[in-house]
Amino acid sequence: MNGPGAGFGLKCPKCNITIDVIATVGSDPQRCPNCGCNMVPNTQAKISAKVTCKRCNSSFGLINSDKCPICGEFFE
Ligand SMILES: [Zn+2]
Ligand SMILES: [Zn+2]
Repeated sequence: MNGPGAGFGLKCPKCNITIDVIATVGSDPQRCPNCGCNMVPNTQAKISAKVTCKRCNSSFGLINSDKCPICGEFFE
């Protein structure tokens, strides 16, 4: 269900904070801004990128949700 996604949806395994969107710099591992350890993909992240709502036709480049904020339709 969750495909690989670089640059967003990261979680720190140590202090458990999550980052929805992070700027990627080369191939460096993303580090936690709090404790500095390597972030891991957050499998619980509800992030949708480049989606268009099939109900109300609104488009979003990156949204911190798995459903349309306008009409509430879930993205596929
Ligand atoms: Zn941390
Ligand atoms: Zn919608």
